[in-house]
Order: sequence, then C-alpha cells, then structure tokens
Amino acid sequence: MLFKDISPLLADADAFARVVAAMAALAEDVDLVAGVEARGFVVAAPAAHAAGRGFVALRKAGKLPGRTLRASYALEYATAELEVRPDVVPAGARVLLVDDVLATGGTLVAGASLLESCGAQVVRVAVLLEIAALGGRAQLAGREVHALLQA
Ligand code: 5GP
Repeated sequence: MLFKDISPLLADADAFARVVAAMAALAEDVDLVAGVEARGFVVAAPAAHAAGRGFVALRKAGKLPGRTLRASYALEYATAELEVRPDVVPAGARVLLVDDVLATGGTLVAGASLLESCGAQVVRVAVLLEIAALGGRAQLAGREVHALLQA
C-alpha cells in the first residue's frame, strides 16, 4: 500500500498557514466545519476557527459520550466506523466536511451520510490531498469536492 505522508507539509509553517487559509475560504458560507478523526481534525479545526465557524468532530467508533449516530465504511483491508453526536449538528445546518486525504472515498462518503443523518446539508467536501488514481471522487459524485493538492 502506498501511503502519502502529509507530516512534512504540516510542519512547514507557511504551507500549513496556506492550507488553513484555503480551507477557511471554503467555509465562508457554512455554519459548521466537520473534520474526520484524526488527521482531518488537524486541518478542519484551525480552518473553522479562521473562518469563525464551529467545529464538529466525526470520531472513530466508541470514543464519543452521549447518544451518537454511526456509519460503517470499508477500508483497504478492513471496515471502520465513524460516529457523530447529533446534538451538536442542528437540522438544516450547512456543513463543510474536511479530511486530510481522499483515497478510495469510503471515509468521506460515510462522513457525509452521518452528517445528513443529523439533518445537516453537506455543502461541500474538501481535502488537503486527493490520491486521484484511487477513484474516491467518483464515490462522491454529485457533491462539490475540493482538493488543495493532487497526487
Ligand atoms: P479513503 O476512505 O478515502 O480510502 O481513505 C481516506 C482516509 O484514510 C483518510 O481519513 C486518511 O486519513 C486515510 N488515508 C488513506 N490513504 C492515505 C494516505 O496515503 N495518506 C494519508 N495521510 N492518509 C491516508
């Protein structure tokens, strides 16, 4: 499995600032920015703050207290589950969904469906890096998808 590591980019202050600014620009017309645990948080939370929007955590299963909604998705060699607290996502909220990498698309499809289960509207999806050869964008057909970088 080919793994693209975004750590050097995040460690570069100028590059990190530009990533956050670009993500924040995509959040201007939304109510909330949702990030996928764990590396999605690194981009989504500062972008939400920079845009003056709230942040919603989509967490791996079993970590959130209280009532949660859960969605399963396939990874390359396993399945995984994401959860959200519906009480922090008001029905009708406009949401930007953020992750670090778009690979096969399963994670973001699950994330979008979770937010929509809360009654939110996923206005657009944004990633730092799209690995285009893995075809994730096709899984998100019909959605507005932004990738700051392509591999
Ligand atoms: P997908 O569900 O699109 O196949 O995979 C995307 C998720 O897996 C993201 O949450 C991302 O963090 C992780 N991921 C998959 N492939 C890579 C990769 O090559 N590099 C990094 N940094 N993360 C990856």
